[in-house]
Amino acid sequence: MEKQGTIIKVSGPLVVAKGMEGARMYEVVRVSEKKLIGEIIGIEGGEASIQVYEETGGIGPGEPVYSTGQTMQVELGPGLLQSIYDGIQRPLPLLQKEAGEYITRGIDVPGLDRKKTWDFKSIKNKGENVTEGDILVEVQETSLIMHKVMVPPGINGSIKEIKSGSHTIKDTIAVITDAEGKDHEISMLQKWPIRNPRPVKDKSIPSKPLVSGTRILDTLFPLAKGGAGCIPGPFGAGKTVTQQTLAKYCDAEIIVYIGCGERGNEMTDVLMEFPELEDPNTGEKLMKRTVMVANTSNMPVAAREASIYTGVTIAEYYRDMGYDVALMADSTSRWAEALREMSGRLEEMPGEEGYPAYLGSRTAQFYERSGTVKCLGANDDREGSLTLIGAVSPPGGDLSEPVTQNTLRVTKVFWGLDAKLAYRRHFPAINWLTSYTLYNDNIKDFWKNEIAEDFEEYRTQAMGILQEEAKLEEIVRLVGMEALSPKERLTLETAKSLREDFLFQNAFDKIDAYTPLKKQYWMLKSILNVAHHAQKVIEHEDFNFDELLALPVMERVAKCKNIDPDKEDEFKKLWEDTEREIMGLQKA
Ligand code: ADP
Repeated sequence: MEKQGTIIKVSGPLVVAKGMEGARMYEVVRVSEKKLIGEIIGIEGGEASIQVYEETGGIGPGEPVYSTGQTMQVELGPGLLQSIYDGIQRPLPLLQKEAGEYITRGIDVPGLDRKKTWDFKSIKNKGENVTEGDILVEVQETSLIMHKVMVPPGINGSIKEIKSGSHTIKDTIAVITDAEGKDHEISMLQKWPIRNPRPVKDKSIPSKPLVSGTRILDTLFPLAKGGAGCIPGPFGAGKTVTQQTLAKYCDAEIIVYIGCGERGNEMTDVLMEFPELEDPNTGEKLMKRTVMVANTSNMPVAAREASIYTGVTIAEYYRDMGYDVALMADSTSRWAEALREMSGRLEEMPGEEGYPAYLGSRTAQFYERSGTVKCLGANDDREGSLTLIGAVSPPGGDLSEPVTQNTLRVTKVFWGLDAKLAYRRHFPAINWLTSYTLYNDNIKDFWKNEIAEDFEEYRTQAMGILQEEAKLEEIVRLVGMEALSPKERLTLETAKSLREDFLFQNAFDKIDAYTPLKKQYWMLKSILNVAHHAQKVIEHEDFNFDELLALPVMERVAKCKNIDPDKEDEFKKLWEDTEREIMGLQKA
């Protein structure tokens, strides 16, 4: 490490140094004799603005700045899964061992264990030609996930040497000779700059849903695999529970969870709870296919800014292996606040509410890293996906604020959490009137082919009834229930049933927490089936609503969430009985 410049100013996480000619934007530097890690975020003449990822207390003008010649990178390789990192990929438990409860400064703890050996198997042979992205060896990283070591981007050639066996991540496992005759030694440890998206062969239009088992999400407002979604909500409305339910149940193979704690203990809760979560499919710990990036409130603000890039780069790496990856960031408002604080210290011209003018472009750059992709590599047609789900915590629940607005501009799904619903303990407290998805057209064929021909019809009907309910409630408030026609009354009853028996879902109930897609469809059909048949009898002059509501079948419909998901027959019986009992009313 060479001394390059001299500090002239320290302002919290921002350090300004002179004599930095030749330094590049986003280069990593070490600040003062304590060798604090920093990144150049502005450079003019020989003066560099450095964002420092550690506490700068006690550091002052005159002290040296050292160059490293590198940009901020993450380490990629086996050992990422089950890790909990800080914003610049220092393992949290290790950091704590090395530094005690509070993270002290300037310590170098690598992201991946250098000593551990991994058993791996080559899947290519000596003499074979390979191109960037081709899989060279496979490593059983955890009992749930096979890690695939790929030819790093930019390297093509023939395999001069390849090993199988047991090695550390630093050992050479293959040598590739390129067209110019130059040898490239490949190890299981690879690096990638966090601010650059990893290359892919092609991006395609997402066409499959990310199935979460949460009925309101899957049926009404589906997110596509490879899509981007946003969960704004005031404090206590359910952002964290929704993100964790998604992490646990969604059908992605790899989960990257980025936590940016608001209050000190909040992140601690997540750090304690998350490693205990069980993977419902295997009964193993969810961490076996998870990487966590955590920012506790005692960590410097700059590390929070970097954390979403660290997280998304790790997520892209697993996507490149051909996995479906889902990344949850909770909450991106904390990231935006870090951006605002750095911008303020840089004395940049503030935009809306003090956020920098580039908040929008930074937000877009992050969400644009989502996608369904054809992975690099010549001899297989690997596809992977990266779905990004960001929670936003608008102050006072005001969605017009800049972070929410900029996020909505680039995400295609909006799951609007509503304090009023949470207060009424309707969970998930997602407002069905304000939420939306723009992926419906993309995944319509999937519903049709995989679930049911008429799924879309039922979905549209349900949405219509819920919207109609909102209008009718207004009328009831003004002139009372008596003013409604039987048809309108039926709409209200159906809407109530949709809300209470379909949309309401307890994330903490073992059975109710996850509903397979087919069962979601059957449940929806059971509820709308009542309306469908009732419509035929309500106009009859002897018709009495209380008699309808008292039919035995109504109780069964209300409890249809308890029917086993593989018992289609039971649902069919319910539909038949519904028709028979309701038609029976007419004869009476
Ligand atoms: P936020 O992250 O928005 O501040 P949380 O996710 O911590 O809010 O949710 C607050 C509380 O609401 C939870 O502790 C839980 O009791 C309740 N809750 C939220 N979502 C659900 C759900 N889907 N099922 C059951 N309870 C929920």
